[in-house]
Amino acid sequence: MALDKEFLQKILDNPFSDILGQDETKLALKSALYVGRNVIIVGRPGIGKTTLAKNVAKILPDLTVNDCGFHCLPGKPSCPSCKAMKKSVEKTVTGAERFVRVQGSPDLSAEDLLGDIDPVKALQYGPLSVEAFTPGKLFKANNGILFFDEVNRCSEKLQNALLQALEEKKVTIGSYDVEFEVDFLFIGTMNPEDGSTEKLSDVFLDRFDLVEMHYPESVAREEAILDAKAKRVEGVSFPPGLRRHVVEFIRALRADKNIEKRPSVRATIGIVERAQALAMVRGGKKVTPDDVEAVLLSVLSHRISLKPSVKYLESPEAYVRQKHAEFSTTHSFGGEG
Ligand SMILES: [Zn+2]
Repeated sequence: MALDKEFLQKILDNPFSDILGQDETKLALKSALYVGRNVIIVGRPGIGKTTLAKNVAKILPDLTVNDCGFHCLPGKPSCPSCKAMKKSVEKTVTGAERFVRVQGSPDLSAEDLLGDIDPVKALQYGPLSVEAFTPGKLFKANNGILFFDEVNRCSEKLQNALLQALEEKKVTIGSYDVEFEVDFLFIGTMNPEDGSTEKLSDVFLDRFDLVEMHYPESVAREEAILDAKAKRVEGVSFPPGLRRHVVEFIRALRADKNIEKRPSVRATIGIVERAQALAMVRGGKKVTPDDVEAVLLSVLSHRISLKPSVKYLESPEAYVRQKHAEFSTTHSFGGEG
């Protein structure tokens, strides 16, 4: 993607404040974007990878393009219909429209990503003609950003198609080798611990810079995220010491060596919201340790999984209950519970 001055300046100036903290990640991402490198944001689910990528979309300036479905730049036609036409109608696409999201999954097909060519019409009009070709999402990202969520969930065949598009700027669709100068910035995400996924090949990874994202750096940071993101139930107060207890307990679970799938910030937010709501439903004005205890399993037990060595001995429910009991004897509720 041609990096215009406005976009470069915004990369420097924008604090990417939809995500709190993560300063190192932001610096890495900004420096990669600044020189137009393709990046994959690596991190466990629920830590804000998508939010961070969307924050990049927000700084994409509007762009004047040809009204051809491929976002060709005026005066720089790259699709067959623009190349054939002497003068095209122009339109303005917003920054948001230049950000195209693809959800990686084993079912994602090359047609979804690249497009589909009707063989009969291809004979008559040519494979990339408007008549024969239905462009896939990759082409919609031309002169914009292709955001590929969970890129390691798609098949190796698709990884190869993507590589071809990024490297050679041409794609193979069905039995057609079509050349199309597609130009976009690639931002992918992947979860390094997702066992159900396809391993990304070395050849594939060699084309990207990886930017790591982690759980919130500190208790204080996670509390700040709660302040910003967790819903408040009016008329119910959450004693700060008790709320800190929740944050610290979740962070202790993340560090627990028996836990394989760890609770994200969504779990912390979930407990804080549900405990307040439960207090309200019970007719209380203040969240109590009992409220927290009562919502713990509903929010947590499906969000964690235990390592094989423990999982045949204990259920996640029993494990969470036991860990919380242990944690509560060693950690006070801050004296305000
Ligand atoms: Zn065009």
